Amino acid sequence: MTWVYDFAEGSKDQKDLLGGKGANLAEMTNLGLPVPPGFTISTETCRAYLALKETGEGGEPEGLGEEVTEHLAALEEAMGKKLGDADDPLLVSVRSGAKFSMPGMMETVLNVGLNDTSVGGLAARSESDRFAQDSYRRLLQMFGGTVLHVDSHLFSESLDEAKRAKGTDDDLDLDADDLRGVVESFKAIIREQTGRDFPQDPREQMDLAIRAVFDSWNTDRARLYRRQERIPEDLGTAVNVQAMVFGNFGMDSGSGVAFTRDPASGAQGEYGDYLQNAQGEDVVAGIRNTVSLADMAEIDRRSHDDLMGIMSRLERHYRDMCDIEFTVERGKLWMLQTRVGKRTPEAAFRIAVHMVDEGMIQMDEAVLRVTGEQLAQLMFPRFDESSERTLLATGMNASPGAAVGKAVFDSDTAVEWAARGEDVILVRKETNPDDLRGMVAARGILTSRGGKTSHAAVVARGMGRTCVCGAESLDVDTKGKQFTVRDGEVVREGDVISIDGTTGEVFAGAVPVADSVVVRHFEGEKLDDDLAHAVARIMAHADGARRLRVRTNADTPEDAARARRFGAQGIGLCRTEHMFLGERRELVEKLIVAEDEAGVEDALAALLPLQREDFAGILEEMDGLPVTIRLLDPPLHEFLPDLTELSVEVALAEERGEVDERAATLLTHVRRLHEQNPMLGLRGVRLGIQIPGLFLMQARAMAEAAADRMAVHGTPRPEIMVPLVASVRELEIVRADIERVIAEVEEDRGVKLDIAIGTMIELPRAAFLADRIAKRADFFSFGTNDLTQMAWGFSRDDVESSFFSRYFEHGIFDVSPFESLDQRGVGGMVEMGTTKGRETNPDLKIGVCGEHGGDPRSVHFFDEVGLNYVSCSPFRVPVARLEAGRSVLGKR
Ligand code: PEP
Ligand code: MG
Repeated sequence: MTWVYDFAEGSKDQKDLLGGKGANLAEMTNLGLPVPPGFTISTETCRAYLALKETGEGGEPEGLGEEVTEHLAALEEAMGKKLGDADDPLLVSVRSGAKFSMPGMMETVLNVGLNDTSVGGLAARSESDRFAQDSYRRLLQMFGGTVLHVDSHLFSESLDEAKRAKGTDDDLDLDADDLRGVVESFKAIIREQTGRDFPQDPREQMDLAIRAVFDSWNTDRARLYRRQERIPEDLGTAVNVQAMVFGNFGMDSGSGVAFTRDPASGAQGEYGDYLQNAQGEDVVAGIRNTVSLADMAEIDRRSHDDLMGIMSRLERHYRDMCDIEFTVERGKLWMLQTRVGKRTPEAAFRIAVHMVDEGMIQMDEAVLRVTGEQLAQLMFPRFDESSERTLLATGMNASPGAAVGKAVFDSDTAVEWAARGEDVILVRKETNPDDLRGMVAARGILTSRGGKTSHAAVVARGMGRTCVCGAESLDVDTKGKQFTVRDGEVVREGDVISIDGTTGEVFAGAVPVADSVVVRHFEGEKLDDDLAHAVARIMAHADGARRLRVRTNADTPEDAARARRFGAQGIGLCRTEHMFLGERRELVEKLIVAEDEAGVEDALAALLPLQREDFAGILEEMDGLPVTIRLLDPPLHEFLPDLTELSVEVALAEERGEVDERAATLLTHVRRLHEQNPMLGLRGVRLGIQIPGLFLMQARAMAEAAADRMAVHGTPRPEIMVPLVASVRELEIVRADIERVIAEVEEDRGVKLDIAIGTMIELPRAAFLADRIAKRADFFSFGTNDLTQMAWGFSRDDVESSFFSRYFEHGIFDVSPFESLDQRGVGGMVEMGTTKGRETNPDLKIGVCGEHGGDPRSVHFFDEVGLNYVSCSPFRVPVARLEAGRSVLGKR
């Protein structure tokens, strides 16, 4: 087994083994770029290490120590220095690097190899005692926090104390002696907190740091991040051990982070932050404010130009926007990291299309470079620019979108308030990885420090959260739970603010929001807008490639019309339940309390014209396209007054000596119809069999509406769908009735109606017996909401808010099966139902109309299984179109 690989041994395609950082360091090394030498301990090693730990055996995978020794010796040879040597020490960084980037979630230790003796050697070699002491205190701080688990606040408080004593708030004002004092107090903190001294043996430091990086795979924040980003739990992280280069050597040194294009807008041209006399961590932590790359050119022209050359080379090599970490040590540029950079949804669309125009990629590739989730985010609203707004501050536009919420100043409050349904904006000086929970819970994030590459910005962009960073004019007091604006105005916890991640503006109060340009484009507005053009080109290409058709779930003419503008190719599910609510509830009550056939017929006769009108409106909007109308499927309780409330009402009336005849009668019927499990009760086809006239009325209304449309030369294409079928016999009974009604309408109106009759497949039994059911069905539509409910035995109304969080924690699933299809279980039924259905009815049209029809991952599954269409809510239609195209293109 090989555990350790030299940088020269790998390539960018080995992310599984070497992690993203290791694979890309190897790639850059092999491109001949200036990368400090080093080696990567593989993700396999991490998995083996964690497995040993889990079994209680502990320790290191066999042979790891020897391999590290060999590679360290080669590194020492290459550098001409020994790790931690007293006179001229080699120092190394020990960094995590998983297959998928998890910015700031795992550990890094820099300057490993320094101790009480080698710090003197470093001082002598660098001719800077201050630099050596500063490097040592950084090692103590990182090692103490990361490896020894000392509360990191203790170190920052101690450092603040030294600055206070010196009368400054800038680290750079501390001289060598001040820093020597800081080093001593850091060592004392470690001794007090851990009961042992900071290890002086350089190799022991390195081994402990490597283990700490492995362990950091399993911290709470790393787990949460993975859940959020759907990164598998079992990958493990690689560890990169690399010769240190120093950005904190003085003002001719520095560290920076850069992108080959603007990661927020996608605009062409390099973009980045540079900080003189600093190590990389200072840049991403946003501790001091950085300068732009243009300003860097003024400071160090040669390094700047070298950097530009390398960035354009990397972009051409990767054929994508890259993000880069670099360090300048005494005027020499070193590359510390590159990877294909995270970007906002807006940037993703722009960059993909720009790269096609620049001849770097083809359209097929461009479509694969954007996702349905990103498109969904672009459809979020923006602030209405014509509204009155009070500007509080302007920061950096770190992650676009418009967010309105109550200001909160810590993660706990953000989580707590969000859990009770409040929108919150998390306001911090700067964020650190422990703020992740709060960032997940918040609508948006606002910081007073840090640039577009700071932790807050990177994480927010990854999650699609609106973020404004580095609003320097705000004085954020996290302890006092308030911030002060330059003019002295104070915003306290709970005050509403609005932040615009596209412009970087922060406003007082709630600013009204307007539609996004992408929505306006889908609505058919002609816009001269770069983003709208990019989206249009990508969508056109996806539409040209896709096999799946995309319909919509719509119950009103308005929704139908909008969905059609969004590209829907028909209605896959028109739920008729809501047509029986509101003012029509009275008629439904009449139906329920009817004493005899005549009473039922009266109630149905009153409902018929109303239903006809409902269907006519929808058929008109979808003229020429299929419209699947589902017969009534209410769990009955949704229509009935609440049993308890009604009982109380009747009892109170009785107490007052009054008689409320209507309420009393209704109560009798509500008691009669009351069900313990309404979801498993009298609903769907069962209701149709219990009250046959109900479905017949609906079928007649549909047939008459279609005949009316034909009379005005429309092209109605209604399809009647029977819900909750479990047995072919149920379908046969209902179908025979419907066919009779259609024939009657044809006869009456002298027209020939072409109305398909099909069924939902939303019960496991129906999936198992799909071959039998298909003989009597013209189409199937998988109701994956109920199918999920019935397959897992999860009440769709209750479980998500009750115990799912536990299920996520235990990794039973990483996303709710109601949100993204459980492909193995419920998906297996979809696959079986499809195969069996087509066995006996090769012409069977098959679709899906549960919520999963608009979920990107599920769309790919439905495409692979060979469904004919997916149906989803109007706003998801473009998402499904895009993903259906990506599904096909991904296989080419
Ligand atoms: C389903 O069950 O997936 C479905 C589409 O029907 P409803 O959500 O109305 O039960
Ligand atoms: Mg259903």
